[in-house]
Amino acid sequence: MSKLHQARFFTTVNELHTLPQDDVPEIAFAGRSNAGKSSAINVLCNQKRLAFASKTPGRTQHINYFGIYAKDALLAYLVDLPGYGYAAVGEGTRAHWNEILSNYLQHRKALVGLILIVDARRGLTELDEQMIRWFGVTQKPIHILLSKSDKQTFSENRALLHNIQEQVKQFAPAQISAQLFSSTKRVGLEESDTLIQEWLFKDLLSADNPTN
Ligand code: GDP
Repeated sequence: MSKLHQARFFTTVNELHTLPQDDVPEIAFAGRSNAGKSSAINVLCNQKRLAFASKTPGRTQHINYFGIYAKDALLAYLVDLPGYGYAAVGEGTRAHWNEILSNYLQHRKALVGLILIVDARRGLTELDEQMIRWFGVTQKPIHILLSKSDKQTFSENRALLHNIQEQVKQFAPAQISAQLFSSTKRVGLEESDTLIQEWLFKDLLSADNPTN
């Protein structure tokens, strides 16, 4: 069973100075509102409503921390960042969150990788590229989940994946990978789960089993 299935709500923060102590590794999930971020977190954690799939995108702007536990020991965090790109958000709010997101992505020591949720029908947008630029400077890995791939044909998906892989070369030397994903059809679940666990637990796994 995936360790991610043990995720539980930990805390909500609105300001950087209230982030939890950074003594366990964390992975952040970012994406435009409505890209399918909550659904992806829920399916990866095998829970129905861990992340709240909001009916009113952009309303609930905060950072949600989910803890992953083994018995009662906290092992890691999954971090649900506020969705961006929602047109009805005022300029002040947008600037506030840009400041928080850029700071968090560039300076959070415990952050070991970024999962970027991109709607397969929309492709990589300017705002997604902004996230890549902010986090890319850290040289930590970025993995793109091309969500809602069930809404496209096989050949559309194949072309999309190829285009994205070409597009992200412009951000070199940032390490960026991408895969097709669907929460509803559970496509790409194993690949993303394995990668997330590797990012979070590689030290733990090699300590458990020296042959790993
Ligand atoms: P968020 O705003 O990024 O957290 O997006 P949500 O997870 O709330 O998803 C937005 C909408 O897209 C909801 O109506 C979901 O049911 C739908 N959705 C999310 N993932 C998928 C998917 O993989 N396939 C399909 N067909 N719909 C999806």
